[in-house]
Amino acid sequence: MSKVKYYYDPDTLSYRKIERRKRTTLKYLGVFLLGSAIFGFLFVFVASHYVESPKEKALARELQNMELQYDLLNKKMNEAETVLSNIEERDNAIYRLYFEANPIPEEQRRAGFGGINRYKDLEGYDNSKLIVETNKRLDIIQKQIVVQSKSLDEIAVLAEDKEIFLASIPAIQPVKGEDLTRMASGFGQRIDPFTKVKKFHFGMDFTAPRGTPIYASGDGVVKRADGSATGYGKHIRIDHGYGYVSLYAHLYKYNVRKNQKVKRGDLIGFVGSTGRSEAPHLHYEIFKDEVRINPINFYYGNLSPQEFSDLLNKASLENQSLD
Ligand SMILES: [Zn+2]
Repeated sequence: MSKVKYYYDPDTLSYRKIERRKRTTLKYLGVFLLGSAIFGFLFVFVASHYVESPKEKALARELQNMELQYDLLNKKMNEAETVLSNIEERDNAIYRLYFEANPIPEEQRRAGFGGINRYKDLEGYDNSKLIVETNKRLDIIQKQIVVQSKSLDEIAVLAEDKEIFLASIPAIQPVKGEDLTRMASGFGQRIDPFTKVKKFHFGMDFTAPRGTPIYASGDGVVKRADGSATGYGKHIRIDHGYGYVSLYAHLYKYNVRKNQKVKRGDLIGFVGSTGRSEAPHLHYEIFKDEVRINPINFYYGNLSPQEFSDLLNKASLENQSLD
C-alpha cells in the first residue's frame, strides 16, 4: 500500500488528496511484471538444467531399464548365434556332405546387408549405436535362419531321392538265412562242378531245398522271367534303376511275371535246379552298369555284423560252385 499524499488548496482552504496519475501506476505495474518474468525465466532455466523433475527422474529410470533390456537381448542373441552356428556346422559337415550337396560358404551364411543404409531412421540419438548394432545382429540372425531353412528344404528333397535310391538297390540276401542248408559259393575263382576246372564264378550260390522262397533284393521292375537264357534255367532279372540289375537263376517256379513292379522282400520265385545246376540252389548275380559285381557287398540290408562276417568268410572259400 503506497502512502496517501495531500496538498493544501488555497481556494477551498483545505487539504486535498494528491491523485496519482493512472499512467504512472501502469508503468510501475509493467516494470514489476517484466522483472517477475525475467526472474521466473531465470529460475526455470536454472532449475531445468541443474535440478531433475520427478518426471525426468522417471524417464531416466526408464532409459536405464531400456539399456538393461537391450543388454539382455544381446545376451540372448549370443545364445541364438551359438545354437545356429551349431546347426550350420552340422548342416555343412553332415547333412549336406551325406547327400552330396556342396557346403554353403561361411561368407554366404554370414552376409550382412550392403547398399542402402537401412538403419538411418535409428541414427542421431544418444542410444543410436546400441539400437543400430542390436538391429544389425538380429537382421543377420534372421538371414542366417532363412539360409539354413532353405538348405534344409534342399536336404529334404535329396533325402527323398536317397530314400528311393536306397529302396531300389539290391541290398538284402535273396534267401532267408534260416532256410539255407549251406552258404555255398561266392564270387570269384571256383571249381566248375561239371568240368572240375577253375572258372570265374560271377555270382553267389545259396543252397536251399527245392521250393524255398526267393525274395526280390530291392525295388524294381521284372525284366525277364523265363527259361531261355543258356545255363541259368528258369531265371528272373529285376531292373532296379540307377544301373543295377539283379538275377536269380535255376528256379523251380516263378511268382512274378515280366514287367511286374516289385518291392524289396517280395516273394518272386522258388529255389530249384533248372539249367546248368548240380543241386537245388539259388544262383544270384548283381549287375552294375552291365558289369557283374560281387553281391557280398550288398547284404547290409538284413544281416547283422556277425552274420555278414560269417558270410564273408564262407563266400571267400575257393570251393566248388554249384553254378
Ligand atoms: Zn552259381
